[in-house]
Amino acid sequence: MRKKIVAGNWKMNMTKEEGQALISEVVNMAKDEVNSQVVMVLCPPFPHLGYAKKMFQSQANIFLGAQNCHEKTSGAYTGEVSASILKSFDVDYVILGHSERREYFQESDELLKLKVDQALANQLTPIFCCGESLAQRQAGSGFIEFVCGQITQSLFHLSSEQFAKVVIAYEPIWAIGTGLTATSAQAQEMHAALRKHIASQHGQKLADEISILYGGSAKPSNTPELFACPDVDGGLIGGASLKSRDFIDIAKSFK
Ligand code: PEP
Repeated sequence: MRKKIVAGNWKMNMTKEEGQALISEVVNMAKDEVNSQVVMVLCPPFPHLGYAKKMFQSQANIFLGAQNCHEKTSGAYTGEVSASILKSFDVDYVILGHSERREYFQESDELLKLKVDQALANQLTPIFCCGESLAQRQAGSGFIEFVCGQITQSLFHLSSEQFAKVVIAYEPIWAIGTGLTATSAQAQEMHAALRKHIASQHGQKLADEISILYGGSAKPSNTPELFACPDVDGGLIGGASLKSRDFIDIAKSFK
């Protein structure tokens, strides 16, 4: 059985007080409402990582995630945070390759490969993001190959044992923060293609064990249909993860 995962990417939002209030609401609601088999990951900005874990230590299905890590082990990289520092703060997951980082911080497939290695070497689970642009989607062909190519470039150097520890998030760039969501048919088509691509490298058994999340304007009104797709194993949630009610309702969207 693949893990069902709902991860909240807070991006650059939430003061300390706002973050603490949001976590405490999510934790309290999750306790009563969310199936304990659903893995919930909260990915706040770095400073929140210092206190956040203590707020849900008693809840086995809630985990802590960071939004990025540096590609080097340590050293003179002012302003950066390494995977080993994250691990020392009890972080479990790290989002890598988000389209905003690819676009605004020029993160290439090659650089992401190094970040993935750092994450795995420090026992962090990478949530590796991939996805096509609007222009690529509108071109009508080649977008599936492009997204599979992102996986090849940044992840296919891993051994099967390492690859088994990765979570994939398919996030069509045209759906992130735009209010436009991929239809469940579009999501299923890409997720199935990604799983087939992974199977071509690592075999069907391993491909069947990898969680592939959907991200892009996911909200409680569309996640029940998206999560019902056979190859969609949950979501990476941006805007809707900042509202406890919405985030919890999304985590309740699995059949
Ligand atoms: C994201 O940033 O990963 C994301 C999916 O954002 P949103 O849900 O706001 O589209």
